[in-house]
Amino acid sequence: MCGVVGYIGENDAVEVLLEGLKRLEYRGYDSAGIAIIKDDRIIVRKCKGRLATLTNSLKKEPLRANIGIGHTRWATHGEPSDRNSHPHINNSGSIAVIHNGILENYLELKEWLINEKGISFRSDTDSEIIAHLIDHYYQDDLLNAIKMALIKMSGAYAIGVICTNEPDKIIAVRKDSPLIVGVSPNGNYVASDIPALLRYTKDIYLIENDEIVVLTKDKVVIYDSMHQIVDRALFKVDWDTDAAEKGGYAHFMMKEINEQPQAVANTLLRRIDQDEKLKLDIKNIDLTKIDKIYIVACGTAYHAGLVAKVAIEELADMPTEVELASEFCYRKNFITDRTLVIIISQSGETLDTLAALREAKKDQARILAIVNVVGSSVSREADDVIYTWAGPEIAVASTKAYTTQLVALYMIALHLARLKGKIDYDHYHKVIDLLKAMPDQISMILNDVKKIQQLADEQFNNES
Ligand code: GLU
Repeated sequence: MCGVVGYIGENDAVEVLLEGLKRLEYRGYDSAGIAIIKDDRIIVRKCKGRLATLTNSLKKEPLRANIGIGHTRWATHGEPSDRNSHPHINNSGSIAVIHNGILENYLELKEWLINEKGISFRSDTDSEIIAHLIDHYYQDDLLNAIKMALIKMSGAYAIGVICTNEPDKIIAVRKDSPLIVGVSPNGNYVASDIPALLRYTKDIYLIENDEIVVLTKDKVVIYDSMHQIVDRALFKVDWDTDAAEKGGYAHFMMKEINEQPQAVANTLLRRIDQDEKLKLDIKNIDLTKIDKIYIVACGTAYHAGLVAKVAIEELADMPTEVELASEFCYRKNFITDRTLVIIISQSGETLDTLAALREAKKDQARILAIVNVVGSSVSREADDVIYTWAGPEIAVASTKAYTTQLVALYMIALHLARLKGKIDYDHYHKVIDLLKAMPDQISMILNDVKKIQQLADEQFNNES
């Protein structure tokens, strides 16, 4: 859920893309890449790690073009690696795609593309599917192929697409992932966030959900969900770069507080299927054999554990201990191969937490991790992982990471309760409905700024 950027115009696209990605670095990322069209071919350069690595490789072997797309990745499906970095291309290399977000039905689509269409995949990402899907529908009209592909796709996305058969355009789509378009006399731009474009233009179109944008070098056409052309007013940005990075908020913490509805929706909604069953992707642990739970974490995550203890004990009727990771290794624990240890860590790299995980493993415990960062040490060493998909958290005080951990823990409590037959049908569906209502309810609370300000004033410096 990091950065996309695209440019078509008379300037050098590579330079614009690298500058744009640099301005998006503050969002956090694990890899970066670009794709351009040159002499009727798509050329991709991408790698795991810092943008500087990509920039250096482009200094050694320079590229120039007038059209290109770029991406910084925050892995959700597939570990951070060169081959999982974006852009992704179709098998013939004629279409390149960048994607921020999560494709919910990716497994189903991937199976279909492999088994029925004989497509071979080069990465473990959900995003690569989009390139193959568009290819599948492509006849001689990229816009049409994208529209057809979108019908098949469910999930959240900001997408940028280029195609060698139509080298005069970039097509971008937005659904539940931010996307903006910038216009200038020297060309047109697309990006996930305003800071990426501030050096080039302050004339922005804010793209709405379900809209498709076609950018050529001197024109931008926006289509709504009914495929009608939209007459969007230009938004003139008067923020400086610093304010723009924070999405117009005074601090990253404010931004992240306000990202909670989306973050909670990411953690929650795609794990509840049509019959309201929970799909938690716990494949390696047999939860029916578990007779005791330890929740082990540090700091804020430990506090999420304290709340979860009550939920698990009440809903699933299962004895649950919460331990600080830093203490865990030094205490006598009563772990057996029937003990579930739930390890919680935003980064998945907290040293004490990792040490506790290894200790519990030695004692044969089954390890379930709740982690935000895909491919992190905790996620690799656990038996199963539930990712919170909250996106990067930059502020030191935890906000959306904490709320999404709570949601993940509630889902575990509910899942266990159902597996163990400890919850009746009505109660189960009532709790699911309450969980599903949460993103909207959080938004409602956050919109009441006056009330929040009043509460903050009351609590500020309150020592009682
Ligand atoms: N789900 C995609 C992936 O894991 C996109 C992640 C992102 O938004 O950066 O590659």
